[in-house]
Amino acid sequence: MSNDPKTRILIVDDDPSIRTTVAMLLADEGYEVSTAEDGFDALLQLKSTVPELIVSDLNMPQMSGFEFLSVIRRRFPQVLVVAMSGAYQAGDAVPGGVIADAFYAKGSDKPGILLKFVADLLKNSASRAVAHIRQAAPVWVPRNGKDSRGIPYIVLTCTECLRSFPLNVSSEVTSAVMETPCIFCLNEVRYIIDFSLSVASPKKKHEKLAAIS
Ligand SMILES: [Zn+2]
Repeated sequence: MSNDPKTRILIVDDDPSIRTTVAMLLADEGYEVSTAEDGFDALLQLKSTVPELIVSDLNMPQMSGFEFLSVIRRRFPQVLVVAMSGAYQAGDAVPGGVIADAFYAKGSDKPGILLKFVADLLKNSASRAVAHIRQAAPVWVPRNGKDSRGIPYIVLTCTECLRSFPLNVSSEVTSAVMETPCIFCLNEVRYIIDFSLSVASPKKKHEKLAAIS
C-alpha cells in the first residue's frame, strides 16, 4: 500500500533545499511527489489535486504552517499530515497547537523516521480520516488587539452559523485548543489563538516550551 506509486504526497516548505531533499527521499520510495513553496501555493494546488498526505513546514512566510494545517484539517479532513520544524526538539509527540498526525523535527530526527511516519500513517489512513472528521479542527485566529477597556480580544467566526463575534481573552500566549459557545447559535466553537510568532525563533523556544509544560 505505502509503496503504491499512485499515493500522492505534497511537500510544503519555503526552503528549496529541504523541498528537494524531502521530495527525492519520498520519490525514491515510489510516491508521486509534488511541492509547494508556502501555504498559499499549496492551497492553489489543492484546487486541482488533493494528495493523500501532506508534509509541511511550520515556519513559512505568507501564511504560517500552523494556520495552513488548520485550514487543511477543516477543508480536507481525509488528508494525512506530517508537520516538520526545526523549532521543536525531536520526540514522538506532536507539539501542542500543531494540527498534524505526526511531527518530524528537522535537523535532529533522521530522514528514515520521516519515511516511517509516512508509511505508518498511510497504513491506517481510513481510521485517521474518520477521527479527523469526528472532531472538527479548531479555527486558527489572529490576536486582534485590545478593546476600549484595555482587555485583549479576538474575533471568532462560528463554524456552524458562520457569524462572527468578539471574545475577550487573556494576554498570555498559549498553544492550547480553547472552546466557547457561539453567542448566536450556541454551537461550541473550538479555536487556537495565533501563537506562531512565539515559536518562530529557535532561541525563544526553550523558554516558551518551559512555560507551556
Ligand atoms: Zn453560531
